[in-house]
Amino acid sequence: MKKKHLAMLLSQLKGFPEPRPELEQYRTPGNVAAELLWLAHSLGDVEGKIIADLGAGTGVLSVGVCLLGAERVYAVEIDGKALETARENAASLNIDCIDFINADVSEFSEKTDTVIMNPPFGSQVKHADRPFLSKAFEVSDIIYSIHLAKPEVRRFIESFTRDHGFSITHRVTLPFEIPAQFHFHRKRLERIPVDIYRFQRC
Ligand code: SAH
Repeated sequence: MKKKHLAMLLSQLKGFPEPRPELEQYRTPGNVAAELLWLAHSLGDVEGKIIADLGAGTGVLSVGVCLLGAERVYAVEIDGKALETARENAASLNIDCIDFINADVSEFSEKTDTVIMNPPFGSQVKHADRPFLSKAFEVSDIIYSIHLAKPEVRRFIESFTRDHGFSITHRVTLPFEIPAQFHFHRKRLERIPVDIYRFQRC
């Protein structure tokens, strides 16, 4: 499979049935998901691995790693309705390597080889990304995550990572398109720069 093909497949999956602003339910756009997944795959962090997708939402990243040969994926999501859509998305592609876990990320405790995630950016609820990072650092030695490409966010990520004994091995910046779906959105399509990170335990 090519990166472009993966991006196309993922962008055709069903989105959030009733997006909830307080949970920052934006599906990961196909191009951003494919970029993260391709990087992870090329570095040997996907094939045959046990993976956790924290804040799995509609399952874009979970489905993606299964297509790239993951052994098992824990899709952890607090919103049961979103998880239902994730189940449908996986079934539509005959994917059966995902364990769907309807829980808060802080309750998850399985050890994994790799964590992939697109956590809330913390724009609605301040610091909403922290429980995700803390949990990822607890259950895995390798983490891929998406955050806003802003100087203050970068500074926070750099120090939080260091404090948890991890280093940033990769950072790729690209545009993330958010279609207007909440009342506070003024433009039809918002394009915001995000950083895809790879963290590794030192
Ligand atoms: N990766 C998904 C969703 C990204 S949006 C996709 O591409 O579709 C962030 C997701 O985190 C949302 O689905 C939201 O419901 C979930 N979430 C927010 N806080 C959470 C928490 N404390 N525990 C588990 N999931 C949470």
